[in-house]
Amino acid sequence: MSDSEVSQQGQCFRYDVIVIGGGIAGLSYILALLRLRPNVRIALICKQGLHESNSYYAQGGIAAVSGPGDSIAQHIADTIASGDGLCEEQLVAQMIAEGPETIQFLNDQGVLFDQARGFQLGKEGGHSQRRIYTHGDRTGAAVMNALIGVVRRQPQVTILEYHTAVNLITQEQHSIPKKSAVIGAYILAEKEAVIHVFLANILILATGGAGILLILRWRQAMASPWLIERAPE
Ligand SMILES: Cc1cc2nc3c(=O)[nH]c(=O)nc-3n(C[C@H](O)[C@H](O)[C@H](O)COP(=O)(O)OP(=O)(O)OC[C@H]3O[C@@H](n4cnc5c(N)ncnc54)[C@H](O)[C@@H]3O)c2cc1C
Repeated sequence: MSDSEVSQQGQCFRYDVIVIGGGIAGLSYILALLRLRPNVRIALICKQGLHESNSYYAQGGIAAVSGPGDSIAQHIADTIASGDGLCEEQLVAQMIAEGPETIQFLNDQGVLFDQARGFQLGKEGGHSQRRIYTHGDRTGAAVMNALIGVVRRQPQVTILEYHTAVNLITQEQHSIPKKSAVIGAYILAEKEAVIHVFLANILILATGGAGILLILRWRQAMASPWLIERAPE
């Protein structure tokens, strides 16, 4: 589709929450939010089908502490050592502390890790203990198939696949000085070739991040870090 074929005469849609990105981050956010606020109306915007994301193609597993022979402190120490000075230690500690409940959350959504299928937890480079939850060598697909199934069953969630966020809308752009809060996004509906306006109280950018580094290997631009760069602080 060329630029001249795209119409800007789209419609304006309002939701309570807009989530841009249908990888593990976007879908997990939606399910966590619905536990707290079951009645919010959510638009899930995804530039490809829900089965096309870095999350879906992840082959390896997810590290989390489980057994008594392991500890959060040991997992943190392993991670800091492997990070070779690049880790933000506070974030490492937070993520690792949340590991066990994250695995429980995924279990609750129906993800069947190998451990439940009678296999041991995996051990990978940088880890001193067995703590890698896997589903064969298709962990991402197993996780995403479960999350996609649950999200598709939520009546409050409008799923818009093949819809791309092309820019954010801020109050500042609309002459409200000194306020740069994001109030929505311009969304290109690929099949109609129309740009719609989506407005919401909360907009979540879950468009992937450093995952775009893998384009060199994967040649697929599934993440949009530039969109995050455009968001005001
Ligand atoms: C081959 C491979 C193997 C990996 N192995 C592992 C592993 O073993 N363990 C591990 O922990 N991690 C692994 N990763 C990394 C892991 O997959 C990512 O860190 C994680 O999936 C990122 O999730 P996400 O939801 O943030 O982003 P993504 O899964 O990248 O999802 C981004 C979503 O945003 C959508 N999107 C992007 N831009 C726009 C836009 N402008 N408008 C609308 N939608 C948009 C995309 O379509 C997609 O749905 C691997 C990745 C790959 C590719």
